[in-house]
Amino acid sequence: MIIGETIVARATPEGQAAIGIIRVSGPESGRILGEVFRSRHKRPFDHPRSLITGVMHDRAGNPLDEVMVAYFAGPRSYTGEDMVEIHCHGGEAVIRTLLDLLQDHGAREARRGEFSQRSFENGKRNLLSVEAILQLIRAGSREQVLGAMKALGGEFERELRELHESLSALLARIEACLDFSEEPDVQALVLPPVQEVRRKADQIQRRIRRSVDGGIETVIAGRPNVGKSSLMNAITGKRTSIVTDEPGTTRDVVRSPLVLNGHRLEFVDTAGIEGEHQGLEKKADQMAARLAREQIERGDLVLWVTDRPEELGDSPILGRTIRVIRVLSKCDLLDPLTRQRLTAEQRPAAFVTTSASTGEGIDSLLHAVQSEVERWLGPADGIPVSVRQARSCRLLDQAMVKLQESLDNHMLELAAIDLRDALRAVGQLLGQDTEPDVLARIFDEFCVGK
Ligand code: GDP
Repeated sequence: MIIGETIVARATPEGQAAIGIIRVSGPESGRILGEVFRSRHKRPFDHPRSLITGVMHDRAGNPLDEVMVAYFAGPRSYTGEDMVEIHCHGGEAVIRTLLDLLQDHGAREARRGEFSQRSFENGKRNLLSVEAILQLIRAGSREQVLGAMKALGGEFERELRELHESLSALLARIEACLDFSEEPDVQALVLPPVQEVRRKADQIQRRIRRSVDGGIETVIAGRPNVGKSSLMNAITGKRTSIVTDEPGTTRDVVRSPLVLNGHRLEFVDTAGIEGEHQGLEKKADQMAARLAREQIERGDLVLWVTDRPEELGDSPILGRTIRVIRVLSKCDLLDPLTRQRLTAEQRPAAFVTTSASTGEGIDSLLHAVQSEVERWLGPADGIPVSVRQARSCRLLDQAMVKLQESLDNHMLELAAIDLRDALRAVGQLLGQDTEPDVLARIFDEFCVGK
């Protein structure tokens, strides 16, 4: 148990609310509470973990707020130390006054994530569950809440520990085989455990969700007047973009959020971009087109829209964009013969045929967007991984690919190295031997008061 200073912070966000919660943690919590809180009947120390009503007072005896407090005697608290939670009225001045009061009595203002850091240092929570709490707070949809709860409930940890065990067992077996490599049946001996670790590693990779900052930027781009704004409105179900039959009406970038099966997307409507040979006349249009190109470069996913079937394969502007869905717009205007030809030609997921006017194909387009996002990030209710964890997942993946190659080439020594790499990656995921600066970075992502 690390005995530190007593810290204080608000646990609820700034702004006016019905109630606000202030947390105190550390060895002086009880002493400070005794000095500032008076209750008529019960004392919080006699009823730990229960809410007790009373009044907060300053040193001069002025009542400052009617509150409810709960006292938690360590180690049975979030941080593992003695803790106090004060439920006060949620006005800014009230909270500020109480925070000042608590600091005046010896508590120090907490740093970001300091409560969780203490919980980790005192062995109350491991790094996986600390990071799961952060993901839970950040979840942007019900599905993401469910995913974070899988990690918090220990499911992810259990799977990782099982994989760690299987990898260790396989390594032991391979090392034993190395001593008897003359034996013809070495392959048969390692094959079943190899299949087992592959299955477990694959399952972990399939169940994780990599996160992006904010929503997934989905940029709608194409030539002027192909129906980008109409498509944006049809997708988001709102009139956020101006639609006219005059080319070049969208000059600014228009954004609209949408939660699609638990994924938080941000659709971005851009100004039209002409082919190189059809230069835009007005300066404002040229600037808008440049902005659109930048947006395409920055976006996570691009919907490349055209209303001409012959242009579907052609998109010189996309450059290095990796995730692109091609969209044929205004399909209500196509003659039946062209439609027939397109339907016959349409390979799965090569492009999506839509009409903003009739609504045709909009669901298919959203479906294509969802599939693309999930191929990239994993399912919305997947176990959320931080950037640090995603890096370890990638290392695990690479080690498993190399392991297979080494075994295919009958190189058992190399296989042992690959297995050690895989074990290291799983160890990192489990938060074993994490460097202090990595820890500091993790806790710095938390808000003050968590
Ligand atoms: P943008 O410049 O690419 O954003 O295109 P707009 O959404 O402003 O649309 C340009 C013109 O095409 C407008 O006159 C729209 O009414 C028309 N338009 C857009 N989508 C469709 C569609 O699905 N079917 C038909 N028939 N017209 C459309």
